[in-house]
Formats: sequence, structure tokens, C-alpha cells
Amino acid sequence: MHIVVCVKQVPDTTEVKIDPETNTLDRSSAPAIINPYDAHAVDEAVRLKEQHGGKVTIISMGPPGAVEVIKKCIELGADEGYLLSDRKFAGSDTLATSYILAKGIETICQDNPFQLIFCGKQAIDGDTAQVGPGIARRLLIPQLTYVNEVTAVDSAKEVITVHRKLDDGYEVVEAKMPCLITVEKEINQLRYSSLPNMLRAARYQPHMLNADELNADVTNMGLKGSPTSVAKIFAPEQRGEGEIIAGSNDETINQLIQKLSDQMAK
Ligand SMILES: Cc1cc2nc3c(=O)[nH]c(=O)nc-3n(C[C@H](O)[C@H](O)[C@H](O)COP(=O)(O)OP(=O)(O)OC[C@H]3O[C@@H](n4cnc5c(N)ncnc54)[C@H](O)[C@@H]3O)c2cc1C
Repeated sequence: MHIVVCVKQVPDTTEVKIDPETNTLDRSSAPAIINPYDAHAVDEAVRLKEQHGGKVTIISMGPPGAVEVIKKCIELGADEGYLLSDRKFAGSDTLATSYILAKGIETICQDNPFQLIFCGKQAIDGDTAQVGPGIARRLLIPQLTYVNEVTAVDSAKEVITVHRKLDDGYEVVEAKMPCLITVEKEINQLRYSSLPNMLRAARYQPHMLNADELNADVTNMGLKGSPTSVAKIFAPEQRGEGEIIAGSNDETINQLIQKLSDQMAK
């Protein structure tokens, strides 16, 4: 079984600074890490490889420094990694990102077709949860989102069964492979890396692919290929400190009513 995992390099915080002049995230303000959901996606892919055999390939689109997150995936047990990196990708929104990743997957899977693609549920910086479904649509394969358990894989029938997280429970869904899965963190408990994998990761050099090598239409990439524009980006205003009202029940209720009336009168 060939499993491809899409992994994004993200800043190590959900509170990245915002540049008010350019309306963009200042990604340099925090160290880069593997998107936490994607680490669980890699671990799940490695577990399936351990049970069913095959290969786990990592794909990431990002700046040259993103080789480090690919090396981290090798440490977690992945076999190979590809970084899609080119100035032509800069400024890509989720539509363009999913196009570039889909083209990358087609390119690297030419001789070894994939049965599964794993993505995280969302990236902790962009937070849209659109890229996984976007890739599935472009590759015309089924998508299973918000998956918190893979219950069975029938390689002979090429069918996978999963639990999809809902607000008040879960649903059991079966899909024909190849398909794409986006994962919740509960899907597994991350395991420690083994020493051989750590040694391999230290020496590993990911494959690099640029725009020309993807057999893709460059007008679908970068700012040109991105119909979304960010009108404004801002940090929410800090709320003032709360106040504890002390006293007996009657006193605190009366004080509270007085405060609410004062607020409404303003
Ligand atoms: C107009 C515009 C311009 C932008 N310009 C830039 C820019 O110049 N530089 C920049 O870094 N961002 C830029 N962005 C943000 C960028 O579009 C998103 O970060 C990116 O499309 C992924 O979306 P997301 O973070 O919401 O991922 P989600 O959809 O939340 O991610 C879900 C999953 O998809 C996969 N995934 C997502 N992104 C990648 C990736 N890059 N590689 C591999 N797997 C991935 C991962 O498995 C992830 O868990 C821009 C956005 C807009 C709207």
C-alpha cells in the first residue's frame, strides 16, 4: 500500500504576530514546527504500513527550510519525502495550494500509484481545513474528513472503514480506495521515534521539486492563481479584566443588576 501524507510547516504558536501594514502573518516571529495534526497523520500512515506493508511518502509545499519538517517525518517512520518549493508558489491561497499539492502527488506517484492520502484536519496557522478536500476534488477521489479512528482496511477489496467525528458522536463510513482522509488528533497517541529512524532522518535529504517539474499550469499557482484576497487581518482586542462581586446572594444580585443597568444606559 502506498500512502502519501501532506505535511505543512507552521509557526510554533497559534498566536503569530500580525503585520498591520501588509495584513499578513509574520511567520518569522516563531520557530517552525510540523503542523500538529499532520504529525498524527504521519503516525497513522506508518501504523497502517506496519500492518499492511507498503510505503509512506511525505509531501510538503513550503520554503526551503521546510526540509526540516520532512526530516521529522522520516524520524516518525516515513520512507521518503518531497518538498515542493518555488517562488512561483508564493502567495498561494488554499485553492492554489491544493492545486500545487495535487500536481505534486500526481508527479511523485506516476510509477507507484497511491491508495491513501492523509492530511491533518487543519493547519494551526491558516486554520481553513480546505486544503485536504481541495486535493481530493482535484484528484477526483472520495474524501473522509474529521476522522478519529481507522477501523479496518481491506486491501483485497480496496475498502477502508473509519469513524468520522460529529458534534454528538461519530459515524462509521466506508470508502473505496484510493481516497483522502483528514485526521483529528485523537486518531492515535504519538509514539516516540526509534533510534534507527532518528539516525536515518539526520542523514536524509528530501527530494526537491519546482514548478517546472510538476507539469502544471503556472497561472493556477501563487498570487495569480489565488482568487482569495485578505482584506484585513487583525488580533482581537484584549478584553478588560473581569470583576468578582463579593457579598451575600442578595447583595451580589443587586450589584449585578445595577451594573447591567448602568451598561445598558450607556
Ligand atoms: C491571498 C492569500 C495569500 C497567501 N499567501 C501566502 C504566502 O505567501 N505564504 C504562505 O505560507 N501562506 C500564504 N497564504 C496562506 C496559505 O494559503 C495557506 O496557509 C495554505 O493554503 C494552507 O491553508 P491552511 O493553512 O488553511 O491549511 P488547511 O486547509 O487548514 O490544512 C489542512 C491540511 O492540508 C495539508 N496542507 C495544508 N497546507 C499544506 C502545505 N503547504 N504543504 C503540505 N500540506 C499542506 C496539511 O495536511 C494540513 O493539515 C495565503 C493565503 C491567502 C488567502
